[in-house]
Amino acid sequence: MTVITGADELLDSEIYIDLRRLLDCRLYLKCEGFNFAGSVKVRPAAWMVNTAQREGVIGPDSILIESSSGNLGVALAVIAAAKGLRFVCVTDPKCNPSATDLMKALGAEVVVVDEPDATGSYLAARKAHVRERCAQDPRYVWLNQYENPANWVAHYENTAALIAKQFPDLDTLFIGTGTGGTLMGCARYFREHRPGVRIVAVDSVGSVNFSGAPGPRHIPGLGASTPMPLIDPSLVDEVVRGDERDAIRMCRRLAARGVLLGGSSGTVVSAATEWLARHGSADRTAVAIAPDLGERYIDTIYNDAWVARHYHRGAQDLLENQ
Ligand code: PMP
Repeated sequence: MTVITGADELLDSEIYIDLRRLLDCRLYLKCEGFNFAGSVKVRPAAWMVNTAQREGVIGPDSILIESSSGNLGVALAVIAAAKGLRFVCVTDPKCNPSATDLMKALGAEVVVVDEPDATGSYLAARKAHVRERCAQDPRYVWLNQYENPANWVAHYENTAALIAKQFPDLDTLFIGTGTGGTLMGCARYFREHRPGVRIVAVDSVGSVNFSGAPGPRHIPGLGASTPMPLIDPSLVDEVVRGDERDAIRMCRRLAARGVLLGGSSGTVVSAATEWLARHGSADRTAVAIAPDLGERYIDTIYNDAWVARHYHRGAQDLLENQ
């Protein structure tokens, strides 16, 4: 039994799925969807707020504000509510409606911007709205996950240290890349403590991270429309780029075996299983980080009409492959 008294006490709890039986692949999946607030982002949310409080940036009148595609917003809504702080999340129409509803239920204000750029990304519009509010009212504190070192430090001190403790013989670690917080924290930790561990970054087709060509993406969390400042590619051993169709195929395959994962987890698992098939997995201890679970994607990647609408070419194959 685990007994807690507050929202940030579960940061050391973890659940792994051994995918040997489900996918015939020697891969352990670190399931971050079982965290408080339902995703990996509770770790950077807690670290960014605690660091800002320690540094005196947050006072009793402060209003936290952040741009988020969903998960960080929910995580910050939990942390802010637990600390009695106000929080405004600036998001966009791609954010899952269930995530905005969760934030509102937790007492956050949610703003949805609606001016996409040429690739369909709302990031520039979200950031512009945050800057506008901060310029108008000094009570706003922008945590800025895109540039805040506490984003990656959370994963250095917490996520990576937990994995290292569980897997003394870890060989290869697969990490999805959005802001690069998870990737950079883990890469720095293992570079310093276990340089033999191979760090494989998983990005999506259409993401400009790691000099990729921009293109449309529909699965939130993974990839970026402008290069993410936290990412130092020299700390990464390899980059693999996953197609969103493969991600959805993998999500649906795992769902048919009773494991309901989020879309970016599908990208990471499909890229990792393909990498392991190419490089061999027999003598390797490999771990992949799954950022969240599938409940928040019931109306998107698990919805046939949504899939047919967003992936015209090959959609039939996706729907049949379950
Ligand atoms: N997947 C999901 C579902 C996410 O919410 C995030 C966070 N944006 C990521 C992957 C990527 O994590 P990071 O920002 O640490 O690169």
